[in-house]
Amino acid sequence: MNKKMKIIPIFVPHVGCPNNCVFCNQRRITGQKNFAVDGEYVHNIVEKYIATIDENTHTEIAFFGGSFTAIDNEIQEELLRAAKHYKDLGIVNSIRCSTRPDAINDEILQLQKKYGMDIIELGIQSLDDEVLKISNRGHNKKQSIEASRLIKEHGFILGHQIMPGLPGSSREKDIKTCIESIEMKPDIVRIYPTLIIKDTELFEMYEKGSYKPLSLDEAIEISAYIYSLYRVNDINVIRIGLQNTDSINEDEDVKAGPFHPALRQLVEERIYYYALMSKLNKLNIKELQGSIVIHAPDNLISNLAGQKKSNINKLKEKFSIKQISFKKKKDDIIEIYHKNNRLCSFNKSEIFQNYLNMQQGDLCI
Ligand code: SF4
Repeated sequence: MNKKMKIIPIFVPHVGCPNNCVFCNQRRITGQKNFAVDGEYVHNIVEKYIATIDENTHTEIAFFGGSFTAIDNEIQEELLRAAKHYKDLGIVNSIRCSTRPDAINDEILQLQKKYGMDIIELGIQSLDDEVLKISNRGHNKKQSIEASRLIKEHGFILGHQIMPGLPGSSREKDIKTCIESIEMKPDIVRIYPTLIIKDTELFEMYEKGSYKPLSLDEAIEISAYIYSLYRVNDINVIRIGLQNTDSINEDEDVKAGPFHPALRQLVEERIYYYALMSKLNKLNIKELQGSIVIHAPDNLISNLAGQKKSNINKLKEKFSIKQISFKKKKDDIIEIYHKNNRLCSFNKSEIFQNYLNMQQGDLCI
């Protein structure tokens, strides 16, 4: 039986960060402001979670927020010691952190190893040096490549975080970043389309008109393409879009940009829409004059149908189909039926390759 996953998030806002990226107001992103980040802070958070953990849970301490490995060594060791205490007791199964590429070297990684760190997520954001410069990241592409190599060499699980839509970037540059990230073989990836957060330099650039964020539709499209690229290369995309929190929402700190609380779902729906459209396009569907039934595994039906049946409604209109319904099945093959005749079938991996092919073709929504 697969274990449930429980994350114990420990926010270390800005403590380790020597930088001031144009898009970042880290204290706001983590939703927490002035407080001491020390061993006691870690203990207090973990103890609160312990009551909710059962033996069928894989529990992970996650140091999110700032640049963990850039934190002052003494504080870093104190935080790691506290986390390791719970790992040694068997209460926690793994530890992860996120950090900057220029805050990685052999010595830092040895320290992480000593205290049982498992996963290191690197905020590479872009692999275009001009974009990194305009975004005031304070590191370059070469440092991201070197840090990724070292993390893998030391036996950690490597995560990449990338940000489509940064100032100075373009669709081509974002895709190139993804391709070059794939070459470094990350185990996991997060895709965060750039948002404009209150009290950041990016907000000032936006107000002056020198930065235009991606629209929601553009963010869905580029994220769908990048997500598909990672998926066809067997890389697990664990998140798309910032999480909706008390402060990260359109009424609070997000001033502009492609924010949506369910961005991943919109991205997946777009990919599945193209998969269905491509299949139906190849059939002489207009002559069927009636209904079709899509046989699919339960967990894919909402992506195939789209939110509020948006995919279904678009397909019905485009192909003049009276009714599209679903039938649940157990295996992963998706099949389209008309009056008990199987018209076509496709599997999950074809869906992502199909999306990549569609971009080069002439089909559009
Ligand atoms: S490195 Fe990270 S924490 Fe520091 S300013 Fe940039 S995004 Fe914020």
